[in-house]
Amino acid sequence: MNRVFNFSAGPSMLPLPVLEKAAAELVCYEDTGMSVMEMSHRSPAYDAIIKAAEATLRTLMNVPDNYKILFMQGGASTQFAAVPLNLMKTGKADYILSGQFSTKAYKEALKYGDAQVVASSKDDNFSVIPQTTRESFRPDADYVHVCFNNTIYGTKYNYIPDTGDIPLVADMSSCIISEPVDVSKFGVIYAGAQKNMAPAGVTVVIIREDLLGNARPETPSMLDWKLMADNDSMYNTPPCYSIYMLKLVCEWVRDLGGLEAMKAHNEKKCAILYDYLDSQDYYIAPVKPECRSMMNVTFVTGDADLDKKFASEAGKAGFSNLKGHRSVGGMRASIYNAMPIEGVEALVEFMKKFAAENPKK
Ligand SMILES: *Cc1c(COP(=O)(O)O)cnc(C)c1O
Repeated sequence: MNRVFNFSAGPSMLPLPVLEKAAAELVCYEDTGMSVMEMSHRSPAYDAIIKAAEATLRTLMNVPDNYKILFMQGGASTQFAAVPLNLMKTGKADYILSGQFSTKAYKEALKYGDAQVVASSKDDNFSVIPQTTRESFRPDADYVHVCFNNTIYGTKYNYIPDTGDIPLVADMSSCIISEPVDVSKFGVIYAGAQKNMAPAGVTVVIIREDLLGNARPETPSMLDWKLMADNDSMYNTPPCYSIYMLKLVCEWVRDLGGLEAMKAHNEKKCAILYDYLDSQDYYIAPVKPECRSMMNVTFVTGDADLDKKFASEAGKAGFSNLKGHRSVGGMRASIYNAMPIEGVEALVEFMKKFAAENPKK
């Protein structure tokens, strides 16, 4: 069977050369005589893998020396709790609501302290990114939390909020390594790996060192960033195979030219879709142009039955997982790093054909 163009929001497409490399060494990794899946995480071979994963990601993202990179478990959703547990000192934290995941993060923080919504685009159905200034935040807040790319709605921050001295915490699950970011502007960046970096199972946390060591006493050991940092992400068995895959993906990105090259590739891909969407009126793109995501492109026909038919016919034609998130409907094309240009070009051709064959009543 041929591989399809997989537009899934996550877990999502992985680069074919990465899958092929993993397949080639699946049974026997280098001269170890065993699979990476079978190795002790304390073995020299695995130690080299996890260190290379960390080093390659660090170089790709240009992570400054005073930041730790942690490989954790439980997905980005577990970090919704880890963030307040590790950072709430005064107990105050400011949240910007730009979609469903940031709302979940906020609700989780409410369990631990005085989390406050300081800006929200809920009234705009999350079709825009809320605007903030330094004055939007409480001066004594322990941190400000944002979701940088809103996977479900297809919006992204095109600027870094100015929080002054308050640490900025960003969920970058669906945009990490899609383009360069200035890590030094953030206190913490976290991301579930299954959108753009690896199969599910590993969560990356990048944290400025001076923010470590403030975990509340009741913090579960497994969520204590300092304990994880002190143990090089090996306090217990890490998600070994996902970390190995993350290493392969980061090497693939590096060999293609790094994050500048990814940005050019992703800008080109999303422009093909957005230019088409803006050139016609059969499909509607709900997101304001200045807030559009490069990774998750949402659109609707305006007719729920047609949307359903679109997703179903697209699936049969080899374009998988175009149905929008169950909470918003419509369509969503997730076009992470691994999606080739040809996938997006072919999708636009399919969209044209569908529009011609299914006139609106
Ligand atoms: C997918 C996603 C999550 C949830 O990630 P899990 O790893 O499933 O917990 C959180 N935030 C964003 C932005 C996401 O895209």
